[in-house]
Amino acid sequence: MARMRYRSGSYFYLNGNYFVSGDDSRYSGRKLERLNKRCLRVDEEFVSEFPDSIDLKITERCSWGCPFCHESSTPDGKDFDLEKTKEILGQLPPVGIEVAIGGGNVLECPEKALNLIEWLIERGNRPRLTINWKDLKSTGDPGKDEQRLKLINSVSAVGISIQSMDGIEPPSKDAYSHDISTGTDLGENISCYRVYHVIAGIFPASQLKTLYNNIEGAILVLGYKQWGRARNNNLPDMTEWKEAISELITEREPDSYNTIGFDNLATEQLGIKELVGDKLWSKCYLGDEGTCSMYIDAVKGQYARTSRSPERIDWNKIKLLDFYDTLKH
Ligand code: SF4
Repeated sequence: MARMRYRSGSYFYLNGNYFVSGDDSRYSGRKLERLNKRCLRVDEEFVSEFPDSIDLKITERCSWGCPFCHESSTPDGKDFDLEKTKEILGQLPPVGIEVAIGGGNVLECPEKALNLIEWLIERGNRPRLTINWKDLKSTGDPGKDEQRLKLINSVSAVGISIQSMDGIEPPSKDAYSHDISTGTDLGENISCYRVYHVIAGIFPASQLKTLYNNIEGAILVLGYKQWGRARNNNLPDMTEWKEAISELITEREPDSYNTIGFDNLATEQLGIKELVGDKLWSKCYLGDEGTCSMYIDAVKGQYARTSRSPERIDWNKIKLLDFYDTLKH
């Protein structure tokens, strides 16, 4: 049965006028320690010199064909230039910056993705990976499955996008199988922390509590991006989602190991600030987009504020940190 592997992974660095610290290895059994940010002086706003986190797209290829795919991924999409991407990311300081690698389907370019992850770890950055729940099924090729598992377990935390709980059996409640991924072919052998990604308005609100109660890890709620294949879609009605989140936050067991987080778009679409109140918000909010994060499309070779920003800049025209600096103005 899969258990969480203890990994070394503490980080502590100075970024502008604040310190960032955390420890990927401190699972306390099942829990990933939260990133902490603290200003050098009291009552100051965080002012960064470089991003604390980067969303990095490495492939446009994916065979799942989801109609809401905001990256418009296709089975014959291109993937990234490994050496050029290293040259660009090599402009970052070698500290615990989180690099969230996604696509497309990153499992469709496993060798290059693994090479990039190992290089990032070596230089002191913190790579993450996002995959789709459907890819936890065996491919039917043991060699390919092993390669996929090696890639997934090369990071400390994997994001698993899940569209709904339909057809997914909740696991038995014994101590080491209390996670929906353990019932899958590959999930049984995933040893890293799992963060379930759900899209507000797509994942059924009525299943949110069931998901929360049947995982060992975290839920990350992503906003509904009217971008890519979803560009012309109407924004779904979020009423049920708001109610489900409110219920989950208020009824959650105080000693629950599981956590729930939101990207910036989801906080806007679901009114999270109003829901949690100013006090909790000021403790938990990590910052506006562009004040501590940015997006890189390593397939097209472009920088942007976020994956849904229409303004894109060719990465050959400006250094990474100079581009990041422009986001603050
Ligand atoms: S949403 Fe994800 S799984 Fe679906 S087509 Fe796009 S990249 Fe593939």
